[in-house]
Amino acid sequence: TPAPVSNFLRTIIENDLAQGRYAEKRWAGRPGPASVQRQGAIDAARIRTRFPPEPNGYLHIGHAKSICLNFGLARDYQGACHLRFDDTNPEKEEDEYVNAIIDMVKWLGFDWTNGDENNCYFASDYFEYMYEFAEALVRAGLAYVDEQSADEMRATRGTLTEKGTDSPWRNRPAEESLRLLREMRDGKHPDGSMALRAKIDMGSPNINMRDPVLYRIRHVAHHRTGNAWCIYPMYSWAHPVEDALEGITHSICTLEFEDQRPFYDWILNHLADLGQLSRPLPQQYEFARLNLTYVVTSKRKLLHLVREGHVDGWDDPRLPTLAGLRRRGYTPASIRLFCERLGVSKADSRIDYSVLEQALRDDLDPKAPRTVAVLDPIKLVLTNYPEGQTEICRAPRNPHDPDAGQREFPLTRELWIERDDFREEAPKKYFRLYPGNTVRLKYAYVVRCTGCVKDADGNVVEVHAEYLPDTKSGTAGADAIKVKGNITWVSAAHAVPAEIRLYDRLFADPHPDAGDKDFLAAINPDSRRVVQGWLEPGTVADPGQSWQFERLGYFVADREASTADKPVINRSTTLKDSWAP
Ligand code: ATP
Ligand code: MG
Ligand code: MG
Repeated sequence: TPAPVSNFLRTIIENDLAQGRYAEKRWAGRPGPASVQRQGAIDAARIRTRFPPEPNGYLHIGHAKSICLNFGLARDYQGACHLRFDDTNPEKEEDEYVNAIIDMVKWLGFDWTNGDENNCYFASDYFEYMYEFAEALVRAGLAYVDEQSADEMRATRGTLTEKGTDSPWRNRPAEESLRLLREMRDGKHPDGSMALRAKIDMGSPNINMRDPVLYRIRHVAHHRTGNAWCIYPMYSWAHPVEDALEGITHSICTLEFEDQRPFYDWILNHLADLGQLSRPLPQQYEFARLNLTYVVTSKRKLLHLVREGHVDGWDDPRLPTLAGLRRRGYTPASIRLFCERLGVSKADSRIDYSVLEQALRDDLDPKAPRTVAVLDPIKLVLTNYPEGQTEICRAPRNPHDPDAGQREFPLTRELWIERDDFREEAPKKYFRLYPGNTVRLKYAYVVRCTGCVKDADGNVVEVHAEYLPDTKSGTAGADAIKVKGNITWVSAAHAVPAEIRLYDRLFADPHPDAGDKDFLAAINPDSRRVVQGWLEPGTVADPGQSWQFERLGYFVADREASTADKPVINRSTTLKDSWAP
């Protein structure tokens, strides 16, 4: 594997390591949840990153960028990357999502287990710590219970140009806030009646520093802690605490969180000053998120597409979810290659979908077996080929890999070819079959087209040709006749029938959700076309098997629907970018 391309995060990490920034790092460990106790033995001189999904949906291609980045840095600098479920928002989180996320991180080829399957982290394991830390902040006069309603808080928060105004509860005695916080935890107050806020600066130019909420009351069950809690921490409060408890060194997030960094640092430095956390503290860094054309990746929008039946589930091959991409035939290596090619920067950009498709082609080309399929079949009859005769033709399994050997398939009098490989009237530069023209049947003979048969409505139902006996591929006479066209075919008597799902982009607009566009309006009505085609005899469509169908593209046997008796095949991508704007 080639050396990784440097980027600003690698430079930062290399400087930190060179300066021995983490040389002294030892996490003493504390009694408490298992996932924190495991932290007792943090090695010196190791960096720690994390991938912290919220288990409220399936992972998508944007998450892959973060996964490759965080796990890649840990791997390259002999550190560790934590898989952490940021499950602080009980209403939307489910175990189904936890399992799907674990499945996908593994599939991408990253190991978070360190030999122990239980080695993933849950923010909800730290609820007790977060609460203790909150009390410490209250006692230090750094947080207070506010009894304004959510609407009042919003209204007094100010705007970009206008400062906020202090809550009437802002200067209540710490003792009173402490009592109310305990009552909040004990379930004595209804949802929305009060909240715990950090006491920072309502006049700060950064709105995130205007006394952000730390805890809100929510009388709802949590997928892991059940009814143990009725107050839940806000993300911006929970996140720095999670990072610090796990000994994360480099907390890498997307650019939207840049304005949150001052609060992240405020929390950690105060908790360290109060003796609740040890230094060195985690540092937050931001990078540009992946934006891909022709897709939406917002979980809310993906959920909508799934719930409203615009697609067939989270793993629909048209979705940019990792489960969908896998089903579409994307390989883990192709997604890692894509993420490598994206690089890491601080400038937002939109990546063309074709970059993703090209990564798949580049990954599959050297390894995918070749086979022939006919997707829009019409019969070709070799009128001078003896009825009942069969002869074997040979072709490389993969032209880039001589060791892969050859495959064999029969030629007979009646073949299936692509309907588009015949024209009664040939347009300019059309080199395939038309009356009088010669083409090569790939891996077999040169044939001369003699005409066609039509039905009562004038539709061509059969093409006729004569083969030239001395021209078989691989024989001395093969080059005697020069032809410009080379067409694929399968023997009608031997071909394997298959259902083939031709996928196209789910959205017809490169920016389906830009601005306040209604993304549903951009749905491509032809994003899936199902055809009955024919495969080269001997093609075994084991679920998940990928091929290059010669001249057509890369295809995969559907992981869910394909069986030996009834192959169901998805088009992963065409051979060339067919979407030039
Ligand atoms: P949504 O906003 O759709 O709910 P999210 O970004 O909140 O998605 P999380 O589960 O919180 O989803 O994300 C986990 C991690 O993945 C975060 O650290 C986030 O920065 C990263 N991530 C999410 N989307 C992208 C993206 N498009 N590009 C790069 N990283 C991303
Ligand atoms: Mg999130
Ligand atoms: Mg988000």
